[in-house]
Amino acid sequence: MTEIIHYQNFIANAFVPSDPSIEVRNPANNQLLARVPEASGEQVEAAIAAARHAQKNWAARPAIERAGYLRKIASKVRDNAERLAHLITAEQGKVLGLARVEVNFTADYLDYMAEWARRLEGEVLTSDRVGENIFLLRKPLGVVAGILPWNFPFFLIARKMAPALVTGNTIVIKPSEETPINCFEFARLVAETDLPPGVFNVVSGTGATAGQRLTRHAGVDLISFTGSVDTGSRIMAAAAPNITKLNLELGGKAPAIVLADADLELAVKAVTASRVINTGQVCNCAERVYVERKVADQFIEQMAASMAATRYGDPLAEDDLDMGPLINQAALDKVAQMVRTATGQGAEVVTGGAVADKGAGFHYQPTVLAGCGSDMAIMRQEIFGPVLPIQIVEDLDEAIALANDSEYGLTSSVYTRSLSAAMRASNELDFGETYINRENFEAMQGFHAGARKSGIGGADGKHGLYEYTHTHVVYIQI
Ligand code: NDP
Repeated sequence: MTEIIHYQNFIANAFVPSDPSIEVRNPANNQLLARVPEASGEQVEAAIAAARHAQKNWAARPAIERAGYLRKIASKVRDNAERLAHLITAEQGKVLGLARVEVNFTADYLDYMAEWARRLEGEVLTSDRVGENIFLLRKPLGVVAGILPWNFPFFLIARKMAPALVTGNTIVIKPSEETPINCFEFARLVAETDLPPGVFNVVSGTGATAGQRLTRHAGVDLISFTGSVDTGSRIMAAAAPNITKLNLELGGKAPAIVLADADLELAVKAVTASRVINTGQVCNCAERVYVERKVADQFIEQMAASMAATRYGDPLAEDDLDMGPLINQAALDKVAQMVRTATGQGAEVVTGGAVADKGAGFHYQPTVLAGCGSDMAIMRQEIFGPVLPIQIVEDLDEAIALANDSEYGLTSSVYTRSLSAAMRASNELDFGETYINRENFEAMQGFHAGARKSGIGGADGKHGLYEYTHTHVVYIQI
């Protein structure tokens, strides 16, 4: 991208004049890509008012009509897939192959949620009285505020707006200040459709300004947030005065348990994929390994070779990369500091362990740390980078106990050929998701939700869809 675009907030189907004061840069080379607005208080008000104004008529339409708009947008996303993938790579830093997957998955997700239009159901309940019917209706909540992180910024738009819109809500989206370009480009595609004004709005800005204005606002009926635990906690506090409903998808510290009977080749491949994808900046991907002592040396050696073979760099300058840069300097500093602390506590660097010399971008070497212990910060706090700490355990019992001893509870994985070990782990691991003998990557028909501090509520599938509704029970006595 050579031209520096100045984006404008998207309110009631119009791009409104805004002060484009936030710079967006390519994390692979620090090049300036665009300027986006820091939404004023009036603009956030206007976006919420537009969403409120549109909501009743939108909800009154048949669901299948609402779904039609999602399908139109999905089709436009597909028509623009290659351009969008390049934009995502430029502002977020993921490799082009993964950006293409994100764009196509987003289009599929819009279509998938549209398919629910004819499947939205209430219930008819048995009454204790003669001549009475009890109906449980499902209704939209009203206006949704969707607050997005930067790691899968394009997909997260759909993950929030598609279930919101098909169930009859309207939405105001705030993208991360790191990755707002793709969201404004999504809005451009929306603007090409005849979606009624106010149903979908975008305001950009920082969390401290636009984010807080949205989350404190009494006119918002649901805050659907994906991001870190700290921010989730601040949003809960902001929502408290209005008792605003919350859907929080927060961080993870996913354990991968590798048992002695595992197919090690498969385990190494899957754990590498889970750690390298998006440069380790994924909430649900393997963040710590517990390996049984009998196979520990072999596993660590193979893991180190596999991570060391990872090709990384600037995804728009080099072909066939597995991994791009971290999102910004702060992320790079945090990863480097966590590795330094771990080695200071006795962890051994088997491969990597340093900032990579790759020009102006935020690159860290793919790293494997052995000799880790459960009291080390690297085994307890989210790294969000291409670093894999490994701890040796004696058996499945110890692995499960250590895995559960975490403030996070999003995803987990187990590698074993034993059905009974897999079943025991599924029963005893206290997590929202467990993957057996495969990398951590959820399906849109599943339910992505975390235990403990990993969140409240969840996304995807039928259960995620109904998070955007409330129940209304009607008793009819005739
Ligand atoms: P952050 O929590 O820093 O930010 C997420 C969003 O919240 C951004 O748009 C940010 O704005 C905004 N924000 C920040 N402060 C506030 C506030 N006080 N009020 C309202 N909004 C605010 O997360 P990251 O963007 O750094 O994303 C990484 C985190 O997200 C990781 O912890 C990861 O695990 C988690 N995540 C979880 C997923 C899940 O499904 N569970 C999926 C993806 C990521 P801005 O940055 O523009 O200032």
